[in-house]
Amino acid sequence: MLRLEKVNKYYRVGTHSLHVLRDVDFHVADGEFVSIMGASGSGKSTLLNILGILDDYDAGEYWLGDTLIRSLSERRAADYRNRFIGFVFQSFNLLPFKTALENVALPLYYQGVTRRKRNQIAAQYLERVGLRDWSEHLPSEMSGGQKQRVAIARALISKPRLILADEPTGALDSETSKQIMDLMTEIHRTGITVLVVTHDPEVAARTQRTIRLRDGKVLGEHEASLSNPRMAVVSEAAAAKALERAADKAGDKGADRAADRAADKAADKADKADKAEKADKADKAEKLADKPAGAARAEADPVSPGAEP
Ligand code: ADP
Ligand code: MG
Repeated sequence: MLRLEKVNKYYRVGTHSLHVLRDVDFHVADGEFVSIMGASGSGKSTLLNILGILDDYDAGEYWLGDTLIRSLSERRAADYRNRFIGFVFQSFNLLPFKTALENVALPLYYQGVTRRKRNQIAAQYLERVGLRDWSEHLPSEMSGGQKQRVAIARALISKPRLILADEPTGALDSETSKQIMDLMTEIHRTGITVLVVTHDPEVAARTQRTIRLRDGKVLGEHEASLSNPRMAVVSEAAAAKALERAADKAGDKGADRAADRAADKAADKADKADKAEKADKADKAEKLADKPAGAARAEADPVSPGAEP
């Protein structure tokens, strides 16, 4: 569906420039349901805006399907957006003086669909998000959850292949968030690829995979899990399992001991390094020793109680 290769983005602020995305690499397969997590300021919205062709980037490559998205004219960018992508934002971005129905119908207006036809289609989409009886209401008459449903219906009406949602539950209480994520899950089940930026671990847990950003960098799966105490436990268990499996596979003590030695070595190395370097070095050790040394890292830096939230 999409692929980023060493994407870098700078914002020019006064006389200096801010390096906001650093060699961001990842891919999202067709039909995946993925979350992007990271602290405020880590570059999530910048990343999403690039993915949505709302913003350009400075270096690297962004492939959407088979198309390299770079320095497109505004017209072509708009064309790709309209054909492929639906957006959902934290603040809903509804037009305040348009009814729910008119808001949902708006993308069809831009496509030149007649009023009668677009209202008819918009009504179907409103129904799909559970708002059949709200079509004549203004956004100001609706709750946050209802407004977000309108925004989701609007995102769906042009039949996108990809939904990009920037903190879609950021302004909602937890029960409403859950309902919005139920809706996102339903949308994903229809075959649409869904990417959700979120702060909320419960939202991320509803997706199939989480990409973690820190200071504009994508954290590797291991780094990410070690930086999160809850995940570290999971990762430790997974590493132990991997070690077990590797030993089983090898089926002889020699391989077992080799794995142990590699693990010990990695653990020694990791001890000497500071926390950040620890993860790095163990990564290298892991590559040398293949899977088993993953356990060494988990042991070398078990839960990192002082780790960042
Ligand atoms: P997030 O969505 O993870 O909170 P953003 O992508 O919004 O992060 O911002 C990443 C960094 O880039 C922040 O330091 C932010 O202040 C800065 N930034 C975002 N947009 C701009 C802009 N248009 N001009 C200058 N700096 C920006
Ligand atoms: Mg943001």
